[in-house]
Amino acid sequence: MVVLKSASEIEVMRQAGRIVAVTLAELRERVKPGVTTLELDHIAEQTILKHGATPSFKGKPAGDPDAPPFPASICASVNEEIVHGIPSQRQLKEGDIISLDVGAYYKGYHGDSAITLPVGQVSKEAQDLMRVTQECLVAAIAASKNGNRTGDIGAAIQRTAEPQGFSVVREYTSHGVGRELHEGFTLLNYGQTGHGMLLRPGLTIAVEPMINAGKYGTKVKKDKWTVVTIDGKLSAHFEHTIAITEGDAEVLTKLE
Ligand code: MG
Ligand code: MG
Repeated sequence: MVVLKSASEIEVMRQAGRIVAVTLAELRERVKPGVTTLELDHIAEQTILKHGATPSFKGKPAGDPDAPPFPASICASVNEEIVHGIPSQRQLKEGDIISLDVGAYYKGYHGDSAITLPVGQVSKEAQDLMRVTQECLVAAIAASKNGNRTGDIGAAIQRTAEPQGFSVVREYTSHGVGRELHEGFTLLNYGQTGHGMLLRPGLTIAVEPMINAGKYGTKVKKDKWTVVTIDGKLSAHFEHTIAITEGDAEVLTKLE
């Protein structure tokens, strides 16, 4: 079911979103060669708790009933890992890229946002992939207007990524967000303009293009969580929680 939020609910989601943004800003400072993804997880958890929120992802059940609940506060996905990477003793090294996905639950509402960062100096391909994925998110947010449809958002992502030689992940999607982390509906990151669900003020969406340097196919690792590219090539991920308004969409997971 699609849930429209009142102004007061959106105000709380703004606060949840700001906690997510502060946490990502903290992580951005810490990403460098030698740091482990578990260290990043600890920093994120402490930051979220310090602000009176709880990590949205910790203990979240998997889609696969045989999989354990998600054991950490953030998802840390390195290089060919697309999403849902489990923080570990893995040390980041020069030339890696890392996608950090943070969710915070505050006063009954979730904020959800992700960034991909370079570790030291990275390849031209990695730089291009991160730039294009960020452009996809910007284009998606610009298309997230009252009266547009979900297909307009997917189409905006697709026409930003594909002409630049990158592919859009199909098996994982953007989604409604609010009282639940995944609330009400999923939104494909590809599609046709004029198709799909109508966007209306009060709709809150986690918009999250996942873009691959190679083919768009995915597979899940033996840990039953980590999603990787089918061909082992790089992947990037940028996400914001947004609210549809009468005018331009409002980004709720921004710093100020
Ligand atoms: Mg996320
Ligand atoms: Mg999300």
